[in-house]
Amino acid sequence: MRVPGLRALLLAASLAAVPMSSADAAEPRFERERRAMLAAIEADVAATARETGRARLDDRVMAAMARVERHRFVPSDQQAHAYENRALPIGHGQTISQPFIVALMTDLLAPQPDDIVLEIGTGSGYQAAVLAHLVRKVVTIEIVPSVARAGANALAAAGRRNVETRIGDGYAGWPEAAPFDGIVITAAPPAIPAPLLAQLKPGGRMVVPVGADGETQELRLLTKGTDGSITERRVLAVRFVPFTRSR
Ligand code: SAH
Repeated sequence: MRVPGLRALLLAASLAAVPMSSADAAEPRFERERRAMLAAIEADVAATARETGRARLDDRVMAAMARVERHRFVPSDQQAHAYENRALPIGHGQTISQPFIVALMTDLLAPQPDDIVLEIGTGSGYQAAVLAHLVRKVVTIEIVPSVARAGANALAAAGRRNVETRIGDGYAGWPEAAPFDGIVITAAPPAIPAPLLAQLKPGGRMVVPVGADGETQELRLLTKGTDGSITERRVLAVRFVPFTRSR
């Protein structure tokens, strides 16, 4: 064991004299809760392995889940629940997705360090923050302006500089930044939006919950071959907020 030197002790004493904000005081608790959240994700991964074909997720994905502070992405009245492995309300009838689902969708995207990924449905910004740890750049679109602003603020406060946010209907994607190595849709459309599929690179992957509003949807993984052909796999029954359209 290393014995702390005088300098370290003096530093600790001076830090103790600084009044801690309530957020700082909550840090050790959040750390503990975040570890418990990772264990809950692993349990869900194991329980759904037969459907998803994944008995465990990529270590890099789990490391990103361990790093992102989910409490920064939930409203203040939900702080106590920030690390529970479930979706939480973020206002305007929208939700921050369940951590297990965020981890699974991230894993299905198979993100690579040089990738540019498009997300439709910024919401809280949490999914974008997780992806931002794994790829070069994330571009994310949110249709509800106030939700988009809150998500962008949370991402900035969390120090994520490789995320670009935009307000609008994600149906048309983001042609200026296309093509994308990966596209993740975090609201459920009744069918896969054709413009988004067109903005996927050959060899790219799309993860999307498909299904009617109010019903259970199907999480699907689409892969675009180098010849442009699409392979589709049904992964898991899920429940997302509906993909809405601007009028
Ligand atoms: N990825 C988010 C999940 C938020 S819920 C997170 O990690 O918290 C899905 C979000 O998709 C909602 O905020 C909803 O407003 C948004 N959304 C629905 N339809 C959309 C569309 N056509 N374009 C962009 N965003 C959309």
